[in-house]
Amino acid sequence: MDFELSDEQQAFAQAARDFAAGELAPHAARWDEEGIFPRETFAKAGELGFCGIYAPEHIGGLGLPRLDAALVFEEMAAVDPSTAAFLTIHNMVAWMVGTWGSDAILKEWGDGLVSGQQLASYCLTEPGAGSDAASLKTRALPNDKGYVLNGSKAFISGAGDTDLLLVMARTGGEGAAGISAFAVPANSPGITYGRLEKKMGWNSQSTRPITFENVQIPADHLLGREGEGFKLAMKGLDGGRINIATCSVGAAQGAYDVARTYMHEREQFGRPLASFQALQFKLADMVTHIVAARQMVRLAAHKLDSKDPQATAYCAMAKRLATDLCFQACLDAQQIHGGYGYLKDYPLERLVRDTRVHQILEGTNEVMRVIVARQILNKGVDLR
Ligand SMILES: Cc1cc2nc3c(=O)[nH]c(=O)nc-3n(C[C@H](O)[C@H](O)[C@H](O)COP(=O)(O)OP(=O)(O)OC[C@H]3O[C@@H](n4cnc5c(N)ncnc54)[C@H](O)[C@@H]3O)c2cc1C
Repeated sequence: MDFELSDEQQAFAQAARDFAAGELAPHAARWDEEGIFPRETFAKAGELGFCGIYAPEHIGGLGLPRLDAALVFEEMAAVDPSTAAFLTIHNMVAWMVGTWGSDAILKEWGDGLVSGQQLASYCLTEPGAGSDAASLKTRALPNDKGYVLNGSKAFISGAGDTDLLLVMARTGGEGAAGISAFAVPANSPGITYGRLEKKMGWNSQSTRPITFENVQIPADHLLGREGEGFKLAMKGLDGGRINIATCSVGAAQGAYDVARTYMHEREQFGRPLASFQALQFKLADMVTHIVAARQMVRLAAHKLDSKDPQATAYCAMAKRLATDLCFQACLDAQQIHGGYGYLKDYPLERLVRDTRVHQILEGTNEVMRVIVARQILNKGVDLR
């Protein structure tokens, strides 16, 4: 068992660190404050291959393992979890489209997605179907030109700013087996975008509801086969959960780095904060939890890459553990800064706001426990 990164992986992580320092760090606070979706920055990320890190090579993706993708996302999230997280969603959709898209879809969208010239949203959640996503009601009815889509989606990241929507819709009966996945051009007639949601964090990416009213989809825009959509959506989310967990690890590392420096600089009672054992212990726990979360995420990435049958459970465990531990680490870093941690002059309050949602989306952390519990109790699997 080798826990060390290869030279190539270290170089890849360094490239992401440089990109984060040059293209994200100087702007992250302003994008958050002004709610700017940095489209050109995604195109620049695309030039480095960061928009199709694990997308298959036949569409121009790098086809790299999830671990390599995690290295990139972690570096970016250390300075801007919101922008990094949108990049992860885009990568997830690029992988899904590249893996299950028809030739026509790949021809039309492959290049654009992996280059970051065109961006994608993942549309599963509906107003009445959140954690119970398999109860979704958006319907795609077949007609002579393909399918006609009607229904609505909620909380869609990037909606209104992206070019392609990956939409899960019902083509059959109730339950997961009646759901199919479609690649839908975001400007198709009949699509309307609702109001821009006002959020606690993740402000550099838009979140909007979407309504579909008699949207015509060509037959070859179906991903995989009819009735496979929920399965594909969940496969996408296995990797998505590693990505979100990684963004939490990155943010926590960023927060920890700032807090460690601050403990040497700030003096109270005539001594630097670093001399107070209570704060030393806090910092020690933070770094311990960050390292534990990172290793758990990398283990899950390895399970997914090696097609381990328990990969879904490992991804759920990693997502739950990393997003909980790392959110707490961001809070602790803020606490170490005292009142200054509450001010926007420092990045701590933004890192706290941005990582909070990681406990909620791509499956809430309660749902992550449901997945793990189902595996160990109902299926009797011994996860070791
Ligand atoms: C900023 C943001 C961006 C998002 N982006 C996207 C996106 O791009 N695409 C997309 O499809 N969705 C997206 N989502 C939606 C997100 O995935 C859902 O909000 C999430 O899955 C939870 O669904 P819900 O909000 O309907 O909560 P509900 O399902 O109503 O859950 C409410 C509470 O009940 C708990 N709960 C539910 N069922 C159970 C159970 N069986 N056992 C125990 N507890 C349970 C939940 O954990 C939660 O605490 C986004 C959400 C946010 C906030």
